Amino acid sequence: MNKALFWDLQGTLGGEAVASLETFEPYPFSKEALTLSKNHGFRNIVITNQSKIGKGLLSKETYDKEASRILDYFNSDGVLLDEFLCCPHTSEDNCNCKKPKTGLMELCREKYDLDIKKCFVIGDMGKNEIVMAHNAGCMGVLVLTGGGRKSLGEFRHTWAEHEADIIAENALEAVKMILRK
Ligand SMILES: [Mg+2]
Repeated sequence: MNKALFWDLQGTLGGEAVASLETFEPYPFSKEALTLSKNHGFRNIVITNQSKIGKGLLSKETYDKEASRILDYFNSDGVLLDEFLCCPHTSEDNCNCKKPKTGLMELCREKYDLDIKKCFVIGDMGKNEIVMAHNAGCMGVLVLTGGGRKSLGEFRHTWAEHEADIIAENALEAVKMILRK
């Protein structure tokens, strides 16, 4: 298994594009999407930007609690999520892990010996997920849940030099379309 789907969290697997993690509720189809990709040999890796931590608006304790609540939901009847990784930094921190930077993808590529050309990044914000996909050398899937429609509309200028390789209604449709590629 040397391929992976890199998932955005909020607006993609549940919740809203910009909201606090405490209000995150998974979408009803997310488990099915993750199961389908697992069954086709993909690892499922979540990468989430949580700059609220860096800004002091979300404590590490609250983050840990919410992250384990979300992991419990997805991994309760078998491990659907192989990794749940977070960048806690703000733009000013100049880290290498804040999407669309590829630091956390690189970490996983080494850990799992991933063939990055067989991987996809899936998310609702073109400027983060589609640009990170292309920065890493893989394909990017934009979902229309969360901020997806706005990302294709009023925020299209924030990732103007890029095109989504796939546009999907939601996470489950995204996996189905990936499997047809
Ligand atoms: Mg998102």
